[in-house]
Amino acid sequence: MQTIDNFNFAGKKAFVRVDFNVPMNDNAEITDDTRIRAALPTLKKILADGGSIIIASHMGRPKKNPDLKYSLKAILPHVSKVLGVDVKFAPDCADAASAAAALQPGEALLLENLRFYAEEEGKARLADTATDEEKAEGKKAIKESQKTFTATLASYADCYVNDAFGTAHRAHASTALIAKHFDENNKMFGYLMEKEVIAVQKVMTDTARPFTAIMGGSKVSSKIDIIENLLTKVDNLIITGGMSFTFAKALGGQIGNSLCEDDKLELALELIEKAKANGVNLVLPVDAKVADAFSNEANTQFVSDHAVPAGWLGLDIGPDTEAKFAEVIKNSKTILWNGPTGVFEFENFSHGSRSVGEAIADATALGAFSLVGGGDSVACVNKFGLVEKVSYVSTGGGALLEAIEGRVLPGIEAIRGF
Ligand code: AMP
Repeated sequence: MQTIDNFNFAGKKAFVRVDFNVPMNDNAEITDDTRIRAALPTLKKILADGGSIIIASHMGRPKKNPDLKYSLKAILPHVSKVLGVDVKFAPDCADAASAAAALQPGEALLLENLRFYAEEEGKARLADTATDEEKAEGKKAIKESQKTFTATLASYADCYVNDAFGTAHRAHASTALIAKHFDENNKMFGYLMEKEVIAVQKVMTDTARPFTAIMGGSKVSSKIDIIENLLTKVDNLIITGGMSFTFAKALGGQIGNSLCEDDKLELALELIEKAKANGVNLVLPVDAKVADAFSNEANTQFVSDHAVPAGWLGLDIGPDTEAKFAEVIKNSKTILWNGPTGVFEFENFSHGSRSVGEAIADATALGAFSLVGGGDSVACVNKFGLVEKVSYVSTGGGALLEAIEGRVLPGIEAIRGF
């Protein structure tokens, strides 16, 4: 497999798929440029080699072409600033051949939002009133025009670099299909993508043991596939956050008004059985910090998480659970964290998530490999200042979760073959 480090971009044009889908405010100003900065090592390496770049990204969910609310032109000055070159702009991503051809070594061209074209995602834009027949025809037509769109994008460049891990779980024109137009020596991951792929590999396949996964957050239902897959891989599975109360109730506990999915009680018991059958140590909370209202200012007390008083609700784990979790985490060599232990957005219910983050940091200092991913746990490590103390913080929410579910990600497969 080709790697970006081994590739000399001198005199070459590189089509680089990035994820510049940055949050913007109402004045079209970037409110967080993390995603742009994350792609800089790749972009700078290409320019330093003497190559030129065609930068391609999506932004938001446009429904027509053009949908100027989602124009990437708004980020052009910032991209130019952080990249240190005057980046050119192609206002139509499917009509940029001459702009791409004119690029000189060391120059960069930003294409307008790929998703202005329905062909990027390969989903026909049909009226709500479309008949089944029209839908079938639309689906067929878009698959055909997607091939042309993909070939057009590929024609701009000599090589393809995918640095958009955030969209790696999508089989879109620019994230996966385009790779077929380049032979294996001329397609590769960018640095960001490479780091993500290696981190996932260290956790899911080249695993140092014991392997502990900490799954928190609100709902069991959104994490069933992940839990099922992890039960075939981990030594310890810590279940925490709102979803742990579904387990507590399934086991006969009193959970008051705590979050619970009553239609998942059976499933919780099945998962407990599956863990036993697989020899996985399933670790559940033993106490909870309960509140008399869903509020940071609520009255609180610590109780057994099987004895939540009527009218109260569990919004975080208690000190005994913190100690129990920390013990397991500190003895681990591989750690995966997805989802908080409680409503960490409220200061008074953030202690459990902080303690898990700190236990992970301690284990990492002792040589464990730790991967933190999925929106809220990333927010936790940021909030608690632990980013530098864990091994890797993933940038890809949905993509990371699908990788943990054990799925093949099209954006990775298109380059690596699996
Ligand atoms: P998820 O999106 O499923 O990863 O869940 C993250 C959300 O779960 C966060 O916004 C937390 O505030 C919330 N959460 C965690 N624990 C609890 C709990 N015990 N009760 C209610 N919400 C919770």
